[in-house]
Amino acid sequence: SDHQLEYPLNPQAMDWSKLYPAYFNDNTKPEDLKKVTIADIGCGFGGLLTALSPLLPDNLILGMEIRVQVTNYVEDRIIALRQQHAKTGGYNNISVLRGNAMKFLPNFFERGQLEKIFFCFPDPHFKQRKHKARIVTTTLCSEYAYAVKPGGIVYTITDVLDLHEWMVKHLQAHPLFERLDKEWEDQDICVQTMREETEEGKKVARNKGSKYVACFRRLDNPPL
Ligand code: SAM
Repeated sequence: SDHQLEYPLNPQAMDWSKLYPAYFNDNTKPEDLKKVTIADIGCGFGGLLTALSPLLPDNLILGMEIRVQVTNYVEDRIIALRQQHAKTGGYNNISVLRGNAMKFLPNFFERGQLEKIFFCFPDPHFKQRKHKARIVTTTLCSEYAYAVKPGGIVYTITDVLDLHEWMVKHLQAHPLFERLDKEWEDQDICVQTMREETEEGKKVARNKGSKYVACFRRLDNPPL
């Protein structure tokens, strides 16, 4: 349960140097510290992280995953990739953290810190009485609007039509998000990557299932 979860009191209290050691050394001035700008919520086995790493080399990318074993697996996978690519410094920009994204997101991220946040094949929670456990709800949309900067993007993909419609309904109803059209999706490299490089995306393709995509732009804060 959440009792065993470690999380910082606030984003300033978070020590990122263990997660991205290549970007931090003792001489790094506080104002030069690089920040995580991309989050993969419920990253599973890390397929999206490893695919995004070379595509977005200037960003620090973080996977957040609630299952201990799965998080450990992704950690090992990233360590191995870093060793294999030590000469070029590849994969230093991705990392994984065990955490419950539904509860502790504002502990990790400052207001407007994120440029992109991904929800790839989140657990569907099919039963009506379980819907409040879904990762996109009205309350959580406000948390995501807080963490994502104006102009930033929320990415969603699922093979469950009912969940797709649910996520679209909640994000569209939120005054700080605007859905992007199919033309935008078709030209965006990250949409293609989440369709093809996530473990779930591959599984759905093998089973010849459908993938429903919806992306949203974080709008500017309204004038006070
Ligand atoms: N995104 C991956 C993919 O597309 O292959 C994994 C999808 S898997 C169906 C959903 C993942 O979300 C699981 O690994 C699960 O443990 C994780 N998860 C569920 N609730 C979570 C939460 N509140 N915080 C973080 N991770 C969560």
